[in-house]
Amino acid sequence: MPQLIRVDGFLMGTFVQISAYTTENRAKTLQKGMNEVAHLDALFSAHRSDSEISLLNARAGDSFVVLAPETNALLKKALYWAQKTGGAFDPTIGPVVALWQIGAANPTIPHNIPLQRAIKRVSYRDLVLSNDAVMLRHEEQALDLGGIAKGFAADHVASFLKSQGIKSALIDLGGNVVAIGKRADGKPWQIGIQDPQKPRGTAIGSVSIANRSVVTSGVYERYFEKNGKRYHHIFSPKTGYPVENGLLSVTILSDSSADGDALSTALFVMGKRSAIDFLKKTPGVEAIFIEKRGDKTIITLSEKLNKQFTPRTTHYALETFEGKNP
Ligand code: ADP
Ligand code: MG
Repeated sequence: MPQLIRVDGFLMGTFVQISAYTTENRAKTLQKGMNEVAHLDALFSAHRSDSEISLLNARAGDSFVVLAPETNALLKKALYWAQKTGGAFDPTIGPVVALWQIGAANPTIPHNIPLQRAIKRVSYRDLVLSNDAVMLRHEEQALDLGGIAKGFAADHVASFLKSQGIKSALIDLGGNVVAIGKRADGKPWQIGIQDPQKPRGTAIGSVSIANRSVVTSGVYERYFEKNGKRYHHIFSPKTGYPVENGLLSVTILSDSSADGDALSTALFVMGKRSAIDFLKKTPGVEAIFIEKRGDKTIITLSEKLNKQFTPRTTHYALETFEGKNP
């Protein structure tokens, strides 16, 4: 009899959970999936001095580094979305992230001079990919893949599990969710969307999905407060400051979770209006925006999600917009 099996871990700075409907002896397969995440974490982490990304950062402005195929694939995707979003998503945001230290023990508001220096170093155009070798053009430039690595890892685990014959599973990397197939009862998976203004675990609504990724970027994910003001972890590459445009969160539905991850960050940076224009030319992607306007909370949905989204509270206004049909 198939049953729900789950393995948990803490990797890539977040809780990772892989669950599947399968027989007992397949638990090993899920553990192997978790080991894959650990493998990618070791390659991609900006916090580990021995990761490939740290090596690349250390060689910035100096020399090319030959990377593992996984790291190459990640950087290619990151560069693709940086170009597509005109740098709203910029994987060279490292120097800015390093100054703020959000999520670390002692976050601080950086002084202006170092922050100006840091934003000058942020430019995806200086990420040079040449076959399997990669280099950052200038000294003191640094990659930070925090805005795409979890999505990439979720895709990687999903294709591994599928290759092992798993037909129904849920992969969750701290809110980057990929659903394989449907639930064992044949119904779609229900994925809760966090209410950005409520304690973690409180859903503002849910989306029903099958074979799809759901990724959210929000102000509640990592932040610190100083003098009553909240500073969160999604930065404008132009100002080096946390983006303030009224958005509380952006959720992206897409087939690829790496795409969804990069886009959730990018569309958050763009702001709702530009983000909707962007979605009108991007097929296969749907979005949910949650924003604060005065004292009202507004949820804006891709029209296609109308039937898939179920609200769980009544304290909001719901709007829809037309997206691009694939
Ligand atoms: P989460 O890590 O909560 O899933 P995101 O996917 O939005 O959220 O990623 C935020 C992370 O991405 C930050 O912690 C930082 O590492 C990185 N980041 C911040 N701003 C940008 C940006 N403009 N472009 C690319 N990456 C960014
Ligand atoms: Mg992201």
